[in-house]
Amino acid sequence: MKFTQPKLPYAPDALMPVISPTTIEFHYGKHEKAYIDTLNKLIEGTEYADMALEDIIVKSDGKLFNNASQAWNHIFYFFQFSPDGIKEPSGALRKQIDEQFGSLDEFKKKFEEAGATLFGSGWVWLAADSDGKLFIQQSGNAGNPLTEGLQPIMTFDVWEHAYYLDYQNLRAEYLHRLWDIVDWDVIEMRYGR
Ligand code: MN
Repeated sequence: MKFTQPKLPYAPDALMPVISPTTIEFHYGKHEKAYIDTLNKLIEGTEYADMALEDIIVKSDGKLFNNASQAWNHIFYFFQFSPDGIKEPSGALRKQIDEQFGSLDEFKKKFEEAGATLFGSGWVWLAADSDGKLFIQQSGNAGNPLTEGLQPIMTFDVWEHAYYLDYQNLRAEYLHRLWDIVDWDVIEMRYGR
């Protein structure tokens, strides 16, 4: 098996009360795992078998793209959270956010709005181009800004499986609460890359 599911850098109950251990059990333990398992089955013995995950995402379509991208997206999602992370960005990322969106609060508002208004299943992204310009993007289903040549910086999962156990239909409430567990240290490192 080529790709292994990385262990979470926190305990299953560490993100309480924003994300419950039950949601972690299903979302990380079953959904993320299933995408990675299916990905491994699909690439076995094909031209994709030795490819980096990012290359598979850019070069594939259909079922392989869906599972490769969902694997990448979920790993990226879960690794941006921490129970005791840095609560605000600083440095180059903060400067860029302030410049483009006016303030951190305005940025958060726009990001939440993009997540709340995405129809159906998908992801809301903060992504950057090669000049460091930021973009808030909605992507349906398994979408990922890598396919448009942009570098993903942060993502909130808006598939119902991400929030229904804890928030039922209140997607906007889930999105708003996620800021409490975002580790901006991780986001800044991604931006600086
Ligand atoms: Mn998900």
